[in-house]
Amino acid sequence: MFRAVTTRSWSNWQFAVRYHAYPGPRLSPRDFTPLELRARGYQKSTHGRADVPPLAFAFDIDGVLLRGPNTIPAARRALAMLEGANPTGRKIPYILLTNGGGTSEQARCQKLTDQLGFKIDLHQFVQSHTILKSVVHRYTDSPVLVLGGRNDDVRKVAEGYGFKQAYTTLDVLAWNPAVWPFHDLTPSERESTKTVDFSKTPISAIFVFHDPRNWALDIQIICDVILSRGIIGAPQGTRLSNYGRRPPDLIFCNPDVLWGSDFPRPRLGQGAFRIAFQAVYKTLTGSEYYDVQYGKPTEATYRFVKQVLKDRFKDLYGDAAVRLPNIYMVGDNPESDIAGANAAGWSSVLVHTGVYDPQQGPPAHEPTHQARDVEEAVKWAIERELSKRY
Ligand SMILES: [Mg+2]
Repeated sequence: MFRAVTTRSWSNWQFAVRYHAYPGPRLSPRDFTPLELRARGYQKSTHGRADVPPLAFAFDIDGVLLRGPNTIPAARRALAMLEGANPTGRKIPYILLTNGGGTSEQARCQKLTDQLGFKIDLHQFVQSHTILKSVVHRYTDSPVLVLGGRNDDVRKVAEGYGFKQAYTTLDVLAWNPAVWPFHDLTPSERESTKTVDFSKTPISAIFVFHDPRNWALDIQIICDVILSRGIIGAPQGTRLSNYGRRPPDLIFCNPDVLWGSDFPRPRLGQGAFRIAFQAVYKTLTGSEYYDVQYGKPTEATYRFVKQVLKDRFKDLYGDAAVRLPNIYMVGDNPESDIAGANAAGWSSVLVHTGVYDPQQGPPAHEPTHQARDVEEAVKWAIERELSKRY
């Protein structure tokens, strides 16, 4: 027998979860949905295994859970539902997925826990460069360049991932200031550098972890590394001296051309830096350089997140989590959150608390549903999945 999850049953359950007791008048089993009965032990699962939630969530952060430094109040209520205040009475797996980065996952999870009022576990958080953990084994002992962030912040992140020889463009400038004579290292930049002889250090890959602070310096050094096949200052082109050294890999972690800061107009992001580099490189060589792009909405990132969600589901439900249920992406940006989710075959909910303004016409990528805020989005998705099941 199907009965929709009504507002009454939602509020009862939220109350019941809080007080561990049914709050209303005496009711007979006929007053409950099959799901509610099962959760109260009246009825066993029809498929003979512990019941697992029929859905999981991935949330964008900025414009969905936070607005600038402030927490959106609906976010706390949405997370409370996922932590058990829902008709199943069980935890619904979720992760947070952002194109931001520049600091360690540990530091960001601690900050998010403080802001949201719920513990955000390391396994529930994916930022733009987290995916690099899955490729680090290819470069563990190889010298690589890591770009972006202040001083050597991203070097510390890279080392935390397992890169043993991660260098910054500031290291290169400290080695030889003539590489880019238009920037003098500040005292704090100089303090962050490592002493390396780059004429004897073949760079095998360049990872743009976060938005570069000095585009000119970084574009110059990327060109140097690629054109001389890893040895900065070595002869360039396809000369015999270059044979035997493979072209360095170039990896970007965030395709956003624009992003929102406290400034009234959007700011240029890492995607703009990539365009600038490729334009210079094409002018020099006649063609763009092959690169790898991660971050929302790329397929690679959504595939990675699916695995993270699978692991989270297993953590919560062990062997009962035989297969991942339907995934809902909740985001405020049609071009990244919604486009990526749609391409991955997930359901998507576009919220109105961030960059998308419904007054400006339909979104560029059509979501499965639109919601005023994240609380409404979560509630809609849970009701949709429960109504499918019973
Ligand atoms: Mg956003």
